[in-house]
Amino acid sequence: MHPVTAHGFNLGIASVRHLTDEILPLLERGADPANSAALRRYERRHRRESLPIYLAKNSIVGLYTDDRLIARAARRFGLRVAQTPPAHKIVNRILIRPQVKAPRLRLPGIGGRLRMG
Ligand SMILES: Cc1cc2nc3c(=O)[nH]c(=O)nc-3n(C[C@H](O)[C@H](O)[C@H](O)COP(=O)(O)OP(=O)(O)OC[C@H]3O[C@@H](n4cnc5c(N)ncnc54)[C@H](O)[C@@H]3O)c2cc1C
Repeated sequence: MHPVTAHGFNLGIASVRHLTDEILPLLERGADPANSAALRRYERRHRRESLPIYLAKNSIVGLYTDDRLIARAARRFGLRVAQTPPAHKIVNRILIRPQVKAPRLRLPGIGGRLRMG
């Protein structure tokens, strides 16, 4: 994952959330957290949710490492559009997601609740 748009750390945190969504219910039932169906669901969901960011990053890197006239014109146009209020609104909507309720693990053996996230 190229660091250019600075999303890699957030994706790592999202990955932990996607994984805990799958394995906490198993742990609460005393089942094996290395359940292959659950791990495949985690992998599919995480790849599906990170793919748009991955593709957008790669196109930005491609655009900014291309010296052709058309790429330079596209960069200037893109920067001009990015300065407009509707563009700010769209970026804010993408970056500020609704808060996700942290899952809780209930294991009687360790005295109650262990908060994850
Ligand atoms: C100067 C600088 C500033 C940065 N600032 C920020 C910042 O403000 N915010 C921020 O969030 N990050 C930022 N980053 C990026 C972040 O620090 C790194 O990307 C991250 O720490 C590296 O995580 P990683 O080791 O999991 O590897 P990476 O390979 O970078 O992966 C990042 C995440 O992308 C996902 N991913 C990678 N490959 C796949 C795949 N094949 N399928 C599905 N998912 C995948 C995973 O969730 C992974 O944890 C910055 C990086 C630099 C260099």
